[in-house]
Amino acid sequence: MKVETFVLGPIETNCYVLISGGEAAVIDPASGGGVITGFLRENKAELSAIIYTHAHWDHTAGSLELREIFPRPRVFMGINETVMFDDPVFSDYVTESGILPVRADMLLSEGDTLTVGEETLKVLETPGHTPGGISLLIGKYIFTGDALFRSSVGRTDFPGSSGVQLINSIKSRILVLDDNVEVFPGHGPPTTVGWERRNNPFLI
Ligand SMILES: [Zn+2]
Repeated sequence: MKVETFVLGPIETNCYVLISGGEAAVIDPASGGGVITGFLRENKAELSAIIYTHAHWDHTAGSLELREIFPRPRVFMGINETVMFDDPVFSDYVTESGILPVRADMLLSEGDTLTVGEETLKVLETPGHTPGGISLLIGKYIFTGDALFRSSVGRTDFPGSSGVQLINSIKSRILVLDDNVEVFPGHGPPTTVGWERRNNPFLI
């Protein structure tokens, strides 16, 4: 599997592109459909899935452009994240300049799996930053969105956030993994589960 990181958008969101067996998945299409499209074409990969770790606009805003170029991919997010699109209290956080991103066609729950080429992505529900945030585990890699960062955790001062729930999510879903699992967060540099378990001041 090939994993490419693109840092995109005004608040430097990490967008990850996974390629396996000629198929690709984009995790958190922050923006820059053109950059992602060029990368997919260079690698002769067919985009089959767009996955939002959560519905904040800085993780979804590139979905419209990607969907215009690639009509096939399905869009996935956590089942408890639909409230972000349905309740107007969240609209400032879901839209960018009033434009709604593509809504998910497929909703994911704890333990669901997705296949991309020869890889299997397992869904872990990690709410707290948002009501239905998810992380994605692929072998020794985990993509944590804005739940867990290197030495930090996601903000919990948004509508629908919960600091208690977020710490519980991280401890019960992520810190139970092996020390050498590599963590790819929604912002900032990668880290490992072991390093966070020992050094993250929010988790000690
Ligand atoms: Zn966020």
